[in-house]
Amino acid sequence: MKVLVINAGSSSLKYQLIDMDTEKAIAKGGCERIGLEGSFCKHKAKGVEKVINAPMPTHKEAIQVVLDALVDKEYGAISSMKEIDAVGHRIVHSGEAFDKSALLTDENMAIIESLSELAPLHQPANIIGVKACKAIMPNVPMVGVFDTAFHSTMPEKAYIYGIPYEAYTKHKIRRYGFHGTSHKFVSEEAAKYLGRENDENFKVITMHLGNGSSISAVKGGKSMDTSMSFTPLGGVPMGTRSGDLDPAIVEFLANKYNMTLAETLTYLNKKSGVSGLSGVSSDFRDLSEAAKNGNHRAALALDVFTYSCKKYLGAYAAALGGADCVVFTAGIGEHDKNVRAAIAENMEYMGIKIDADKNANIGDGITEISADDSKVKVLVIPTNEELVIARDTLRLAK
Ligand code: ADP
Repeated sequence: MKVLVINAGSSSLKYQLIDMDTEKAIAKGGCERIGLEGSFCKHKAKGVEKVINAPMPTHKEAIQVVLDALVDKEYGAISSMKEIDAVGHRIVHSGEAFDKSALLTDENMAIIESLSELAPLHQPANIIGVKACKAIMPNVPMVGVFDTAFHSTMPEKAYIYGIPYEAYTKHKIRRYGFHGTSHKFVSEEAAKYLGRENDENFKVITMHLGNGSSISAVKGGKSMDTSMSFTPLGGVPMGTRSGDLDPAIVEFLANKYNMTLAETLTYLNKKSGVSGLSGVSSDFRDLSEAAKNGNHRAALALDVFTYSCKKYLGAYAAALGGADCVVFTAGIGEHDKNVRAAIAENMEYMGIKIDADKNANIGDGITEISADDSKVKVLVIPTNEELVIARDTLRLAK
């Protein structure tokens, strides 16, 4: 069985074709500049990377380019489109309508479209991707896997804000949380690794630290709280996103810089975080380099980030009544030993102790980096959101 995983953005479309017998990607790539001049697709299969320049006025042409690439005699991965058994789509928002992945029937698509106002930058692009796929592959089952669904188990006290209750009942303003497929994947992998599958008391704090970062408290496989919020702007400061702020800052900023509300949100989404703080970069490799060379603002940006993550670690241990395990994942979590060390520093009182050598030698799979006498297991686990999407897709398509 082979599953095509699609992640459609407003002008991009990333894909992976996964062979479900081995759970390995046999082809992957991405189309960029959809709807613009100079659109192209970077396709990789059989160890060869190919750049395909082709006009892609809409996502439909982009999907066609991807399918043509997948069956290409020279650089393809399959002999015919018939080998694609199902397509899994990453969908940002499930609102309160779905608590798990769902078949993309016309009825479910209507619900997904009605949720667009909750994620106006991403949901419409996801929907366009689904429609384009359906038009070209009308007989292939399509499944939607939501970024928010894993967090549907949060208790009310974790998702309700301290504003009038009608804002929730009338306008659906609440914490939703994101990166759900990643938090689900790594928390399950951690439970398996530690022999705690199906253990309702297994408490793990998952730190997905990448361009976008979020931290979750997971108990017995269920999300109990998470740092991203109504939108992916909330929580810890990120590459270019501010993370949590005093809400009064929004108006103050708008007045000081003479910005509209929309411009102020762009400022908080695109110009803030460690990039805005450091004035150097949103990439943690650049920040460490600059900090090493004495750049105070780069060092400060790293401090602000790791301090914020550390506070969530403490908060979620309090929320869960302790923690059995902490997981680091995503670009920074998997690759930046200094960030991991800074977050876990001085937390021995809570049973968290990292072994410096183990932390500096991360393998390909799961790496345990806690010291032998650490009460809490600390693991680095490479995330694989595409695999979660493919597994759910296969299960539902069957
Ligand atoms: P996303 O999927 O959200 O775009 P990733 O999870 O791929 O992001 O994370 C990307 C970030 O990971 C980069 O911006 C960079 O800061 C960080 N990163 C990647 N590799 C390394 C590394 N070797 N050392 C430190 N940071 C790294």
